[in-house]
Amino acid sequence: MELTLCLACNKPLKGRSDKKFCDAQCRSIYHNKNRAPHEMQMQEINKILRKNRGLLAQFCPSGKSTVKKSVLHQLGFSFIYFTDMFPFKTGTYFFCYDYGYLPIQEKGQDKLLIIQKQDYMSNIKFNPWSVRIQNLD
Ligand SMILES: [Zn+2]
Repeated sequence: MELTLCLACNKPLKGRSDKKFCDAQCRSIYHNKNRAPHEMQMQEINKILRKNRGLLAQFCPSGKSTVKKSVLHQLGFSFIYFTDMFPFKTGTYFFCYDYGYLPIQEKGQDKLLIIQKQDYMSNIKFNPWSVRIQNLD
């Protein structure tokens, strides 16, 4: 009888002959180790976007609210990551999935006007070549 070893921990496998891992945990260890670097990077960015989205949702319980930039910054909000944007005449909304914010100033303080995304905000004619991003350094 041929002995099959778990691809993750090398322990002999019992049961079905087509098994490759002891259990779900070994399977996930193996796949995490063998994941391509770009997959890891994508996972990291997805994590950041999810966190951003969670914070926006947390501070916007009823459709619209205003929060200081410093508050979100302290909680780990990453301002350079967003999923899409909605530029209009006097500003740009930055979205993390279904929540977004408009950077505003109130009494000299940087704040976010947080909103839930509206349907019309997905139907924009967006031209990346018309955007100018300033490097503030
Ligand atoms: Zn194993």
